[in-house]
Amino acid sequence: MGVSGSRGHCYTWRVMTEYEPVIGLEVHAQIRTRSKMFCGCPADYHDAPPNSHVCPVCLALPGSLPVINREAVRAVIMTGLALRATIAEHTKFDRKNYTYPDLMKGYQISQYDLPICTGGYLEFDLDGQTKRVGITRVHLEEDVAKLFHRIDPATGEPYSLVDVNRSGVPLMEMVGEPDIRSAEEARQYLMKYRAILQFLGVSEGNMEEGNFRCDANVSIRPKGSREYGTKVEVKNMNSFRAVYRALQFELERQARLLDGGKRVAQETRGWVEERGETVSMRSKEHAHDYRYFPEPDLPPLHISRAWVSEIAERTPELPDEKRARYVTHYGLSAYDAAMLTLAPATARFFEGVLEAGGDGRAAAIAKPAANWIITEFGRLLNDTRTQIEESNVKPAHLAELIGLIEQNVIGTAQAKTAFEEMFRSGKTAKAVVDELGLRQITDSGALADSVRQAIAQYPQAVDDFRKGKDAASKFLVGQVMKLTKGKANPTVVAQVVKEQLEALR
Ligand code: ADP
Ligand code: ZN
Ligand code: MG
Repeated sequence: MGVSGSRGHCYTWRVMTEYEPVIGLEVHAQIRTRSKMFCGCPADYHDAPPNSHVCPVCLALPGSLPVINREAVRAVIMTGLALRATIAEHTKFDRKNYTYPDLMKGYQISQYDLPICTGGYLEFDLDGQTKRVGITRVHLEEDVAKLFHRIDPATGEPYSLVDVNRSGVPLMEMVGEPDIRSAEEARQYLMKYRAILQFLGVSEGNMEEGNFRCDANVSIRPKGSREYGTKVEVKNMNSFRAVYRALQFELERQARLLDGGKRVAQETRGWVEERGETVSMRSKEHAHDYRYFPEPDLPPLHISRAWVSEIAERTPELPDEKRARYVTHYGLSAYDAAMLTLAPATARFFEGVLEAGGDGRAAAIAKPAANWIITEFGRLLNDTRTQIEESNVKPAHLAELIGLIEQNVIGTAQAKTAFEEMFRSGKTAKAVVDELGLRQITDSGALADSVRQAIAQYPQAVDDFRKGKDAASKFLVGQVMKLTKGKANPTVVAQVVKEQLEALR
């Protein structure tokens, strides 16, 4: 089905006015532990040669026995606490049976009826309002192996390669209530959940790298209706943008079907990025029966309240708490505080600038620090696709630059030039300012010549000044700024201009 721009737009509008979207997300996040979920293999498989992080347990050799990774359980409890969920006292693991080549054992160890966390909620801001979405559960399971589908160039035969490194990596699944009402809400919710996981340090939350994955359940219903429509599960979205686009597409597709008097089929659809559409993968008739049963090789897990309290005490500051503190302690705007707490690396950089700024100066440099990070720095990072923690610019460098502006050593225009060079070269603010000769001219003696030159060039301005036109002196200040290529301190220039004009009166 082709979607032309204008019709697509029309339907977006229609979805919003006639129907109400109902969306619930299931999010899988790999947990950052040293070892895998049920064996001692390293969980980090970045840059590892294929099938190098494997052992009898994660290869599912007969006779091997799993052992629960305590750190992974701790991470799920910490996440549950952040989501205000109830942490189960008694929990267990279950076998989820299905056969697919990425599943070594023929079943996945997961949790069925007694997940570690139940209930809770997640809040995010949208259009100046706080939206709350209920959390159904968070449970612990294991990741599967990675398949690479290839085609033999000689014979044209398709074949697949299996890399078992990922098999057994701890995976946390969060199931959300169908409380989301638009594609944008879904995106915001997902970004907020990722921020929480990143601030807790439990997951990298990188969708492009596949350690943070989301399946979206989507339905629509006529506005005012209380019953849910038939839901479609959408998979294969590899970025936040893809989630937004896939949901937008799917909502429009469903609206078209209902408008045409057709029904939405309950099915799983895959997002095809290049085509910008979802395509059917399997219908509900082919749904799996996973034949869940308790994992006989693992003991049930008792989570003591003492352990939960200990984890609660050691929980790092959450993005919302940080944001509130930035507003109350440093007087930042809600917007700036929100921008700085989108990712921990940004918050860490900001706090690093305050620290480098020196004792008692945090409140004074917080605002300029926030401005630089959000605008200039943010733009350069974006343009060069650089992560803030990998940038040449270090917190101390930015603190120094802000100090130079404060002390009138450089003006704002020069500061921007300096920052660009700092970003490029990694040199300190002082070094760049000296190298590029960006120091402001604040010596009135040094500026006298430029002022004389401007006055000689524009005698009309002198006449105007004599007639009492204040704008004349402002004009001359502008000319001197031009002559000095913006390096003169405007306050000093204004003073010298006034002196010379007065003398000519
Ligand atoms: P299933 O039995 O297919 O696994 P669940 O009821 O367990 O379905 O829900 C799975 C996910 O689908 C949850 O995230 C939930 O919020 C969402 N969901 C449930 N019903 C709907 C619906 N009608 N429309 C959209 N999402 C839904
Ligand atoms: Zn292993
Ligand atoms: Mg379910």
